[in-house]
Amino acid sequence: MTQLFSKTKIKELLGLLNAGSNIAIVTHVNPDGDAIGSAIAWSNFLKEKGISSTIIVPNHFPDFLKWIKGSEDILVHFNQKDRCERILKQSDLLFCCDFNRLSRLDALGEFIETLDAKKVLIDHHIGVEEKDFSMVFSKVPISSTCEIVYRIIRQITGKKHVSPQIAEPLYAGIMTDTGAYTHSCSPELFRIVADLMESGISREKIHSEVYSSFSVNRMRLMGYCINRIEVLPEYRTAYISLTREELEKFQFEPGDTEGFVNIPLNIRDVVLSVFFTESREGFIKLSLRSVGEFSVDGMSRKYFNGGGHRNASGGKSFVSLDETVSFFKSILPEFKDELAAAEN
Ligand code: 5GP
Ligand code: MN
Repeated sequence: MTQLFSKTKIKELLGLLNAGSNIAIVTHVNPDGDAIGSAIAWSNFLKEKGISSTIIVPNHFPDFLKWIKGSEDILVHFNQKDRCERILKQSDLLFCCDFNRLSRLDALGEFIETLDAKKVLIDHHIGVEEKDFSMVFSKVPISSTCEIVYRIIRQITGKKHVSPQIAEPLYAGIMTDTGAYTHSCSPELFRIVADLMESGISREKIHSEVYSSFSVNRMRLMGYCINRIEVLPEYRTAYISLTREELEKFQFEPGDTEGFVNIPLNIRDVVLSVFFTESREGFIKLSLRSVGEFSVDGMSRKYFNGGGHRNASGGKSFVSLDETVSFFKSILPEFKDELAAAEN
């Protein structure tokens, strides 16, 4: 297997890991399967080396990830600000999983910026803000941060198998970040997945915990979203927009709309899908997905204060939902040729 990182870099990382250190692991806001999976797997790896660590996330994470062993110990900054900040202040080493700049952690990021602790990034997003980190383990276009964590562990141990406590969260993160193996999958990734399966996990159990655990409300919300899809055939684009009121009607829980942005991509000829929701905090949250060469990262960076990956990005807008949707429609002509050329 190709070694993603040089021996010197791995040595440097090992030099930072000693049992006496106070270690915290942080992820991006609205943590997804890859963020939670990579953080737990890395924490469990450290634990197996006799090193303890605390995982801190900016805000709530979805219920469909709460079956992962270790997720019950995760601290949420939004709920326990003082406790989290006390722990972070005492940390001398911070692992940053699944994001490319501290601004992706909102208020928690602003706090972390003031800390002297060494910050080690483990990530796979485009456009790392190098000044935010002391050391960077990032490769684009690797499928997921979980794949990167696996490859770092393998470089350290020289073994292809890991314990089930590491394999399970890694598998969950890889599965969710690749849309259950529909994109960003290299032959090497499938070899890794085989190694994870041989490490003693139940693929069926993980799949069912993550994908077959809808509440009735979530299922009905999905049906509602499907009915609300707007298609703009001229631009091979489809979008869904939901007000806070609409979300509340379905007793929306964090994570309930996860993955819904992918649904319109199942319409023939649609290569761009955008999901707009009114967030609790008041801004409009965008999720963007594309197929083929069309880059939603480019679109979101330019117009929606965000970014991510070529085919999966997020963004924010600070005008109303209607204005955001109108603005989105107004920029589409600029992308018409690119959208027409995108292969699907
Ligand atoms: P989602 O639509 O699920 O929120 O985000 C899709 C992908 O883009 C995820 O990998 C997420 O981490 C990333 N992402 C979401 N929002 C932003 C953002 O504002 N900036 C950057 N760089 N990445 C983002
Ligand atoms: Mn990821």
